[in-house]
Formats: sequence, C-alpha cells, structure tokens
Amino acid sequence: MARISINNVTKRFGTGDGQIIAVDDVSIDILDGEFVVFVGPSGSGKSTLLRTVAGLEQQSEGDVIIGDTIVNELGPRARDIAMVFQNYALYPNMTVEGNMSFGLKMSTDYSSEEIETRVRSTAEMMGIDNLLDNTPGEMSGGQQQRVALGRAIVRDPNVFLMDEPLSNLDAKLRAEMRTEINRLQNELDVTTLYVTHDQTEAMTMGDRLVILDQGELQQAGTPLECFYKPTNIFVAGFLGSPS
Ligand code: ADP
Ligand code: MG
Repeated sequence: MARISINNVTKRFGTGDGQIIAVDDVSIDILDGEFVVFVGPSGSGKSTLLRTVAGLEQQSEGDVIIGDTIVNELGPRARDIAMVFQNYALYPNMTVEGNMSFGLKMSTDYSSEEIETRVRSTAEMMGIDNLLDNTPGEMSGGQQQRVALGRAIVRDPNVFLMDEPLSNLDAKLRAEMRTEINRLQNELDVTTLYVTHDQTEAMTMGDRLVILDQGELQQAGTPLECFYKPTNIFVAGFLGSPS
C-alpha cells in the first residue's frame, strides 16, 4: 500500500500570459519505507512538487494523500512529515539541544524527561552529542547539516522530505552525508522524498527516481531502469544513458 499518493497534481503560478505551470499533472505512488528522488534540471518543478506534499504550497489541481488522509487542506504541521532544506534554518540563538527539542516541545505532549532522552539518543546516532551545548555559529556547515537532520529525525516522522539538503557542502562532505542519509533511512525505515538536480546523487541514493522536466514527469523507475531503459530522449540525455 502506498504511503504517499500524488494524484494528478498540477501547480500553476500567476495568471494570464504570465502564468507558469510549475507542476503539470503529475501522479506517483510512493511506497512505505521507499527512498524516492525527484530529479531534474533547475526549474523542472522538483521543489514545487515537494512543497505540495509538505503543505507549503497548495496545488491548483489534484490530491495529495499521506497514509490514509487526503491532506490537501492540511497545513505542514498537521501532516505527518519532517523536512530538511538546503539552508538548514537552525535557530541561530539556540543551542543544538534547544534546536532539537524546540519542535518536540511545541507540537507533542512528551514530558521534558522524554524530550531530553530522545534528543540525547538522536544526537548520539548523528554523532553530534558532543555539540549539544553549542550554537550553530560555532559549528561547521557539515555539523549544522547533521543538526538539521537530527532535528527532523528526533520527531520520529513517518515521512521525511528533503530539498537539496547537501548542496551547501563541499564535495567530500557531500559524499559522506549521502551515505549517512541512506544509512539513517534504512535504520529508521522512514519514507523519504529527496529533491536534487544532481544525477550522481540521484543514481546513488534513490530506490526509485522520479525524473521531471518542465513540470512533467518524464520517467519513474529504479536508477538502473531509468539509466539503461530511458523512456525518452530527455531522460537518456539527462542521465547520460549509453546509446
Ligand atoms: P526546481 O526545484 O526543479 O528548480 P521549482 O519547483 O523551484 O523548480 O520551479 C518550477 C517553476 O516554477 C520555475 O519556472 C519557477 O520559476 C516557478 N516558480 C516556483 N515557485 C514560484 C513562485 N512562488 N512564484 C512564481 N513562480 C514560481
Ligand atoms: Mg528546487
């Protein structure tokens, strides 16, 4: 059974001659525990599609279903999701501990002891338990990104949404974090939607790719299927398939 269904979702911005169709009638079912990568060139509608799943953008047409719930009318907080974006948006004046516990304090009824235990064990899992008293300004980009991941994971979501979470990191750290994110995803078995414009990232990380161009779904399949059996010229060119 699908954990997330995106059914005929279209998103238009603006009106009249200036209208842009950012997402054009996209449908895809994402299975429980699957790691699906939305990949395509800049402006292909990846972020907009993810944002409709997150509830940050209201689609013009179509339905988004998470679990058993049609979430079209629900805001981000009411959806069973956690998000990590490119600019980590950590609270600059809070410690790591504060950053990680804030969401739990705001939107769950855990006791403060439970929150402390959860934050500590998540921090250990992410290798940031030595940083709990530090503020973001005192940490490297890689450490901040780990905190952002930890802050999302600590809420124990069923769905994880990530939009280019590694694009601010240097190449070495990016490669390391790819492995780390895949490891976490396996360990936590959390359904993940991951946006990137980077073919290598998509090919190495995804159970399945959703390849977009100009708002339209070009192909959905495993990395190997898409690479070796591209369904059109765009996909073949984009992935560099052998001809
Ligand atoms: P990607 O993430 O693949 O780079 P986006 O989803 O950000 O693509 O954008 C898809 C298209 O929608 C682009 O043409 C972009 O300019 C347009 N777009 C995205 N957000 C907005 C917005 N808030 N207002 C107007 N146009 C937008
Ligand atoms: Mg984007």
